[in-house]
Amino acid sequence: MIIVTLDGPSAVGKSTIAKLIAQKLNFRYLDTGAIYRIVALLVKEREINIENRAEVSNVCKNLKISMDFDKNGEFKIFVGFRDVTNLLRDEVISKNASIVSEYFEIRKNLLGIQRHFALENDIVAEGRDTGSVVFPYAKYKFYLDADLETRTLRRYKQSGETIDISEIRNQILERDKRDSERKISPLIIPEGAIIIDSSCKTIDEVVKQIIDIVQLEDKKETQ
Ligand code: C5P
Repeated sequence: MIIVTLDGPSAVGKSTIAKLIAQKLNFRYLDTGAIYRIVALLVKEREINIENRAEVSNVCKNLKISMDFDKNGEFKIFVGFRDVTNLLRDEVISKNASIVSEYFEIRKNLLGIQRHFALENDIVAEGRDTGSVVFPYAKYKFYLDADLETRTLRRYKQSGETIDISEIRNQILERDKRDSERKISPLIIPEGAIIIDSSCKTIDEVVKQIIDIVQLEDKKETQ
């Protein structure tokens, strides 16, 4: 199975880019951040104290997560048969996903779920540690970056310019700090990853750059 990994900081456009690459290459898309977000959602719904590691860990047991594009090309995320796609994006969930992702037991429990996706499918996996920890043997690894101002502006526009821009900048900074300073599986540039700075590039340019690399290598191998 072919694995493409795409890691990078918050609000850099990883999920938009990974989705497009997956659709163009006809690969499955694995949104690993959504898995941490699901844990945060269940913790909230079950009114579990986020500091209670044992209870938060219990949430991960027997979790059945699936995700794929539906027949209209919409990306859908399910826990069991429940569609949670639209419940994962609010700021409390974002912050709590980042908090639970620091827990060793959680990361360990979620590793199997993530790897399972690649057993029978070519995949594009996107997150913080997909190239370093989840799929260190991936054939194609990319690290997507952009400067803070660009990322803040992109998130601001995405929010419909409804949230104060300095608040968005602070939220991004806070999540970046937590994700890159944590002890277990911090956000790093994975060994062997190609770094793409998208600050001055459009989404289409980045998608093309990645697809060209994957297809060029594949062509070389079949020759
Ligand atoms: O990518 P996304 O913003 O959806 O991820 C939500 C949170 O999940 C991140 O801030 C990060 O703390 C955590 N995460 C992680 N490892 C991954 C993907 C996400 O720790 N591979």
